[in-house]
Amino acid sequence: MRSHLLNDTTAERYRRTVTEGVERVAAHLAATDRPFTGITVDALAPRIDGIDLDRPLYDTAAVLDELEEVYLRDAVHFHHPRYLAHLNCPVVIPALLGEAVLTAVNSSLDTWDQSAGGTLIERKLIDWTAARIGLGPAADGVFTSGGTQSNLQALLLAREEAKTDDLASLRIFASEVSHFSVQKSAKLLGLGPDAVVTLPVDHDKRLHTVALARELERCRRDGLVPMAVVATAGTTDFGSIDPLPEIADLCARYGTWMHVDAAYGCGLLTSLKHRDRIDGIEHADSVTVDYHKSFFQPVSSSAVLVRDAATLRHATYHAEYLNPRRMVHERIPNQVDKSLQTTRRFDALKLWTTLRVMGADGIGQLFDEVCDLAAEGWELLAADPRFDVVVAPSLSTLVFRYVPAAVTDPAGIDRANLHARKALFASGDAVVAGTKVGGRHYLKFTLLNPETTTGDIAAVLDLIAGHAEQYLGESLDRAS
Ligand SMILES: *Cc1c(COP(=O)(O)O)cnc(C)c1O
Repeated sequence: MRSHLLNDTTAERYRRTVTEGVERVAAHLAATDRPFTGITVDALAPRIDGIDLDRPLYDTAAVLDELEEVYLRDAVHFHHPRYLAHLNCPVVIPALLGEAVLTAVNSSLDTWDQSAGGTLIERKLIDWTAARIGLGPAADGVFTSGGTQSNLQALLLAREEAKTDDLASLRIFASEVSHFSVQKSAKLLGLGPDAVVTLPVDHDKRLHTVALARELERCRRDGLVPMAVVATAGTTDFGSIDPLPEIADLCARYGTWMHVDAAYGCGLLTSLKHRDRIDGIEHADSVTVDYHKSFFQPVSSSAVLVRDAATLRHATYHAEYLNPRRMVHERIPNQVDKSLQTTRRFDALKLWTTLRVMGADGIGQLFDEVCDLAAEGWELLAADPRFDVVVAPSLSTLVFRYVPAAVTDPAGIDRANLHARKALFASGDAVVAGTKVGGRHYLKFTLLNPETTTGDIAAVLDLIAGHAEQYLGESLDRAS
């Protein structure tokens, strides 16, 4: 069994095994013609249930054959141009190179003595990101597992900086279309049930700053503490970007921590054409970026950045066996001092290899392409009488619904749209997402694949209309 341990004597086995895996995936990619096979849980579960984990196959090729059956063949493929659903991106190859290296070396980024160069590379990427944002000379941050964790950590720092033990008095302000991790974080941070003040959005799904000003004033009048404002730079549902400069002014006036959740919109940091859409982000006290959304990085790759490095001390704890306090004075860089995690992957390496191979402009160009595609998709939808489209895109999201002129029953239209999404998923021809707007069911394209064309968008719209029409036709038959 020692032959399975990676070391100097097994290097050849390592090369062979991983190459076999890479060959399989490459062959699979070449043969993929749909984003999904449409497999159901009931069809797939028995295949996985049927495998006895206590009876190994002892053979890589056999394991890969089995994997084909239980996973690869029916996986949902983000690289397919007709995958248009969630905020998951196709990945760039230079990042996969980094991924292959980091898992084999298996550095852990909690301490210098488990990573060495990895620590310095992560720090340099944090500095690079902070500079792109414009956070100033005292900025710092750390890689995290995702936007959810980044938001949690940012709000932890905000809670500590609010400097009160009366947790029930703390308030967080966020728009009604902010990410649900804001609510989860408030709960985890021990705040009261009314801690998150949900604010309305304008016609473009951007936080209403008049309402924010009113609520901040009310908060102060009521003797409560405005702990943080969460501005979303790219809402998950619409890609809408809250008015960052106005929010920054209000935060300054009320002495409130400004957190910018740019999990989605961070791609604009490398944009060659649309960087100005997130102007004002430089005023933030903390920023969430998800490289695994708009930097085309594999999951996980995310970071939280802060304007003032000193605020990260709120996440600092010392353990004699790991990061004793004296190491701070010895200037040994232990990233665990800044992180909620302990053992932590060297995810930063993926971004490093990406920047070194493609350059930041390369990433920005890809993101610009999907933003431009969304603008074209919006024109298509706006001109198509079969569809109602919600807002002109600020990033790469389109929210719309099928609304046949002949059908006036809103519940029927809801059901037709729900049906179309499900039928499309079951067919595997395309994958789209859904959400609710004003209590009604809508469909959603999150465009993150530069390979997707307006032709794909038009074809998927036709498929949606076809499924919806068929559903409405059948329900008319049933009624008559
Ligand atoms: C996706 C998203 C998150 C959560 O990020 P994860 O990486 O999925 O944890 C937070 N905020 C916004 C606006 C998002 O779109």
